[in-house]
This record gives sequence, structure tokens and C-alpha cells, in this order.
Amino acid sequence: MPGHIEHLYVHIPFCPAKCDYCAFVTHIGSLKLVEPYLAALCREAELRHRQRSGGPFKTLYFGGGTPSMLAPEQLWSLIQHVEAVMGLSSSCEITVECHPATVSLPKLLGCRNAGVNRLSFGAESLDDGELAALGRTHRSADVARAVDQARAAGFTDIALDLMYGIPQQTLESWRNTLERVIQMEVTHLSLYPLSIEPKTVFAKRKWRFGLDVPEDESVVAMYELACGVLRDAGYEHYEVANWAKPGHRCLHNLAYWRNAEFHGLGTGAHAYLHPYRTENDTHTGSYIKRVLAGMDPVTVSEQVDVHTRAEETMMLGLRLLRDGPDLGAVERDLGRHPLEQLKDEIGPLIDAGLISLTADRLVLRETAVPVANEVWERLLLSRLPARGSTFATPVM
Ligand code: SF4
Repeated sequence: MPGHIEHLYVHIPFCPAKCDYCAFVTHIGSLKLVEPYLAALCREAELRHRQRSGGPFKTLYFGGGTPSMLAPEQLWSLIQHVEAVMGLSSSCEITVECHPATVSLPKLLGCRNAGVNRLSFGAESLDDGELAALGRTHRSADVARAVDQARAAGFTDIALDLMYGIPQQTLESWRNTLERVIQMEVTHLSLYPLSIEPKTVFAKRKWRFGLDVPEDESVVAMYELACGVLRDAGYEHYEVANWAKPGHRCLHNLAYWRNAEFHGLGTGAHAYLHPYRTENDTHTGSYIKRVLAGMDPVTVSEQVDVHTRAEETMMLGLRLLRDGPDLGAVERDLGRHPLEQLKDEIGPLIDAGLISLTADRLVLRETAVPVANEVWERLLLSRLPARGSTFATPVM
């Protein structure tokens, strides 16, 4: 019996410029496609609802790309349509990812009136030299201004993304960035180590000339510095790359880490409606054509059996440093309690200080995050049936 879908992701692929490290599905340049794209999103919402009804959603997340390139009226229409077709709960967390250089007070007031109640800014750094090195088009003053405007518009849930291990970065410049974001009193922080992805400008530059990025030990020192500084500032480190003030965890992303089902709309959007994980057409033009012609834009579909679901529940849940995986859900899929199945592995990992086990809760320790991939491998691949996982995201 299919469960109830409570989460919806909507991808907005338009960006003002391509950042040098970016491997996301984006559409740069002409905005002529925006209106047809929004029409296609509305059609896809209807299609998905017919296929498997979802909603009323508890979370709605506009990711990108740069969703803040949309006008508030466009966002309002989209939210209205989703609400009419699929339904939104009265307390729905509605997040919009924002590029700091694309917002203004009137725009953010418009977003608030459209029902948005959470903003996530791609700040990346508060050092202008580092922002230039990343190929970002904004500067640190834009971030400070955007956060002030968000607060003036009435937002109380304000998140920032930051990167570390980036060219030119030092432990001191990283400390300065952290101290400045703490002064901004944002409620949520996502900190990602730079990863050089294939086909990006960084990957090409690295291959041709080499890329002057901090050594691995320095990257680990930056992570450890962040843990200490943010703990002292009252942030809870609840996921390997995410910190929140009490009561401000990102409910949408928590659903992913808890391996919940979700609908996804838009170019390259992923969805998980058990037993299928799917991905939409990654080309914006052909996505629009397909949907407006009444075709399904899914181009990749993978069936997830219960053993793979158990693996994914374990792996994703081990990212949650306070909660850990839902061991009961894993047991239901495996037919055996995972702690029993993994008993020979758990002892040495506890002795090595990499995981902890209290009552029925298994969690990765904060100090083990830099070696999380090895821990996950020990806990999963050696004990559970070896099957491919679609969500094996590296941490460092
Ligand atoms: S703004 Fe974000 S999605 Fe757009 S190119 Fe830069 S990193 Fe990629």
C-alpha cells in the first residue's frame, strides 16, 4: 500500500551566470524560457498528481539553479497552482533558495506574501577574494544586505550555505567568515567542502594548470574549527554538513535523510515514489517540450528493492548526527534487526570512537565526519547484500 507523499521539490534551473565549481542542472542566459517553464511545471504537477496523489505537503522546496530569479508574482502563481492541485498543509515549510545578488526588499516582501517562510542564501564565503575565485557574481556586502532585507521582510528562518577548502582560503579567512555569519544571527548553516566535479570549469582548470586548493589536512582543520565555533555559538550539528539553531532544522532535507518519499518537478528533478527513484529530462528546452506535449519528462527510472531501501535508510540516516537511522524501518525491510546483522562491525567502530550506540540509537560521531565514507562502507557493504545505491554521496 503506497504511503502518503508529504514533500515536494521544485527545480528552477535559471542562473545569472555559471559558477566555476557548479555541476548542477542550470540554464544560463536568456530568460525567454521562464514563462513556458513555469507553464510546464504546472502541467507536471497535474501529471504527477494523477499518477500518484501527494499532499497536502508538509514541505515545499524551490531549489536550483536560482529560484530567486523568479518574480514574486511568478512564485505566487506557482505556489497557488501547487496548492490547488496537490495541496499544502497550513504549516507547510516553504523554502526558496536565493542568490544574494538577486534579491531586494520588495522582492522578499513579495515572496513572504506568496507564502514563502524560509530563505536559503548561497553565500558560499564572506571573503571577496574567495568569492571571485569561485566565479560567484556576488560579494560579501550582498550577503549582509540580503540577510538584513530578509529580516526586514519578516523572515525568521534564514539559512546560509558556505563552502570550505576553496582556492585561496586559509584557516583565518574561514574563521572570519564563520564569525561574521554568527553575527548575522542566521538560523541555519550548511557547510560543504569544495568538491571538484567532472565537466566544471574547476575540473578543466585543474586538469590543465592544477588548482591551488588547501591540502586535505587543512580542509579537516576547517571542518573541526567550524564544529567548535558553531557549537559555542549555540548551533546544533544535526547532520554531517548542517547546523541549526534550536527549532530551525530544515524539515525538507530531513525528509531526504529519513529516506521519505517525495515528488519532484522540473528539469533534472529527482523523485522517490517507492519502489521507483526517477530523474527528469536534464535539458530545460526538451523538458518544456515534452511536458507541454503531454509526455512524461522522466528519463531515468530505477527500481529500489527492499534490501536497497534498507541500505539507503541506513546510509542516509547515519548522516543524522543526533537521530541516526530509523533502525525499526531497516528491520522491517531486512527481516532482521540491523544491530544484530552488524554486530561484529559495530564494536570496533565504537572502540575507535567513530560511532556511538545508546539505547536503540546508532549515530556517527561528529569527529568521524571526515572519515564518514569509510564508516558507512564498514557498516553497510560488508554486512548487507551488496547492491548499488543511488544516493552514495561522499562527504569529503
Ligand atoms: S548560482 Fe548555484 S546553481 Fe547557479 S551556477 Fe552558481 S552554484 Fe550553480
